[in-house]
Amino acid sequence: MHYFLLGRKLSHSLSPLFQNLLLKQRGILADYSLLEFEPEQAADVFAHLRAQAAGFNITVPYKQLCMEYIDEITPLAAAVGAVNTVVNDKGRLVGYNTDGQGFLRSLGNLPPILKGKNVLLLGAGGAARMIAMQLLECGARVKIHNRTFEKAEDLAAELQKLFPQGMIQAVEQPQQGMFMIVNATSAGMYPHMEEMPIDDGYLCGVKVVFDCIYNPLKTRFLAAAEQAGAQIIDGLDMLWYQGLAAQHLWGNDFPETLRTEAYTALRMEASKND
Ligand code: NDP
Repeated sequence: MHYFLLGRKLSHSLSPLFQNLLLKQRGILADYSLLEFEPEQAADVFAHLRAQAAGFNITVPYKQLCMEYIDEITPLAAAVGAVNTVVNDKGRLVGYNTDGQGFLRSLGNLPPILKGKNVLLLGAGGAARMIAMQLLECGARVKIHNRTFEKAEDLAAELQKLFPQGMIQAVEQPQQGMFMIVNATSAGMYPHMEEMPIDDGYLCGVKVVFDCIYNPLKTRFLAAAEQAGAQIIDGLDMLWYQGLAAQHLWGNDFPETLRTEAYTALRMEASKND
């Protein structure tokens, strides 16, 4: 059996490491490989996957594009507007989104606490969109700030139609006094580790700071947040949980000892980038 991660530039991906470890240790005769391609090759790639793959994950920049080539999309993936996991059901490709589950599970016991809290969400791309929906589902009051303000406005306007009035707004300047800040931009990601999504002055008094980035594990932004006294959460658990959720959809579940072993290997490998 073959599983794949589809994307454009994948050499730094950590997914094959933990996915192959899980499959091997569970005794499942399968492999998980990287599949890089250019947009114009998409039709051929999906024909190949339909014939050869038991399932696959999709990352940037193909989470939207892939929707043209698959047969069915779950209501959740359709609402998020992106597919990150596909199950090949005897030649029928069914698209899911497990990123939201990955984000929520990586928050541990925080989700019920977020009700009514102010959260500043940085970014207005695919990850920000999915995270905004999860935060709003938790009852948080979300302020979206993005380098390109129009994109934040568009995202907020779109989500305002789905959630109660006043829960989400676009803000041209980051705001002070937030309970939580989520970085869903690429600022600070390898190789631009010196970048900060916003000035560290906005971190004062913030209780929790989450960064989607996992390369490096501790971004400059997270280090500043820790210094300012916030609880910090890096993006690795989000990667881990979306990957486990994908395996579950492919029919593969793993005992706790094995999950712990694979998670430890993943975190060790990721920490080499710090
Ligand atoms: P997109 O390309 O869809 O969006 C990128 C966002 O980052 C945009 O809002 C963009 O702003 C902003 N941005 C990029 N560079 C900068 C910068 N130098 N300063 C400020 N803002 C910047 O990407 P995704 O939404 O898919 O991914 C965003 C981040 O989340 C990435 O770092 C990605 O690795 C991470 N991620 C992590 C996952 C995990 O499992 N941990 C899963 C998915 C994503 P603008 O609109 O102005 O261009």
